[in-house]
Amino acid sequence: RTGPIVVLGSANMDLVTRQPRLPEPGETMTGSDFSTGAGGKGLNQAVAARRAGAEVAFAGAVGDDGFGRELRAFLEGERIATDALRTSAAPTGIAQVSVLDGGENSIVIVAGANGEEELTDGDRALIASAAALVVQLERPLALVERALAAGRQAEALTVLTPAPVDAEAARLLPLVDILVPNESEALALSGASDVETAARRLSAEAGTVIVTRGSKGALIARGGDIVAAVAAREVEAVDTTGAGDTFVGVLVAWLTRGEPLEAAVEAATAAAAIAVTRPGAAPAMPTREEIDAALE
Ligand code: ATP
Repeated sequence: RTGPIVVLGSANMDLVTRQPRLPEPGETMTGSDFSTGAGGKGLNQAVAARRAGAEVAFAGAVGDDGFGRELRAFLEGERIATDALRTSAAPTGIAQVSVLDGGENSIVIVAGANGEEELTDGDRALIASAAALVVQLERPLALVERALAAGRQAEALTVLTPAPVDAEAARLLPLVDILVPNESEALALSGASDVETAARRLSAEAGTVIVTRGSKGALIARGGDIVAAVAAREVEAVDTTGAGDTFVGVLVAWLTRGEPLEAAVEAATAAAAIAVTRPGAAPAMPTREEIDAALE
C-alpha cells in the first residue's frame, strides 16, 4: 500500500527546568537551567518515522500562540507535512518538566489544543490516503477511536501505543493491527500479572502485539501466542526518553516500505539503542543512514 504514514497525536512544547527538589506549596525556588524543546508522543513518533526515511504527515492541533508557531516550524523543518495540523482556540499543549538533583523528573502536562476531540474532514481525507495510521493516547480517546475506525476502513496499517495507559483503551484493540505497549502498559491494559500472559491476552484481540521491555528488548505475540523475543542492543544509556517513540516510528517506517515484521523490529531495536545513547527525545533520533549502518 502506498501513501504517507499519518501520525495523529499530541504536540507539546516541553519546558524543562533543573532544580534541587520540588518546591513546597507557597514556596518560590530558584532553578539553575531552563530549556524548551518540541515534544509530545505524536510529534516524537512522527519525527522518528521521518528521520527513518518515510513520508510522514502529522494530524494534530496547536494554539494560536508562539509555542504553536514554533512547533509548526519545527515539523516543517523536519519535512513532515503539516496540512492537517490545525490551529485551535486552546493554547498549545505543554509539558513542564522539573529535572531534580538526583536525576528524577517530575512532569506536569497541560493538554491544551491536544484536547481537540473532532476528526475533521481534512483528517479523514488524509487517513483515507494513508499507508499507515499511527496513534497514541495523549489525544482524547473518542478521537483516537474515530481515527482508528477511519484507518481500518481505508485498509491502512493501524498502530497504537497505549500511552498514557487508560483501561478504557481496551475497547480499541479490535481496530488495531499493531499494538506497541511497554511492560507497564501491557500489564495495565490486560490485567495480567506477568508480561507473557499480558502479551498473549492482548494479541487475542489486537493483530500483533510488540511489548517493549527497555534494556530487556521486546516480546512479539500474535493470535494469543508468543511468537518471538528480540534482545535489545547493549549500549551505554545516557537518556532513555523517547526510546519507545523511536521504536514505533522506525518500526512503521520499515513496515510501510514492505519489510517483514522481524526486519522492522530489528531496525526499531537498533534505532532505539542509538537514541538512548544521546540526550533528549526527538533530537536523539537517528537518520536512516545511521540505522542502516547499525544493521550492517
Ligand atoms: P520511553 O517512555 O522512555 O520512551 P518506553 O517505556 O516507551 O520508553 P522501552 O520499553 O523502555 O519503551 O524502550 C523501547 C525500546 O528501546 C526497547 O524495546 C529497546 O529496544 C530500546 N531500549 C530502551 N532502553 C534501552 C537500553 N537501556 N539499552 C538498549 N536499548 C534500549
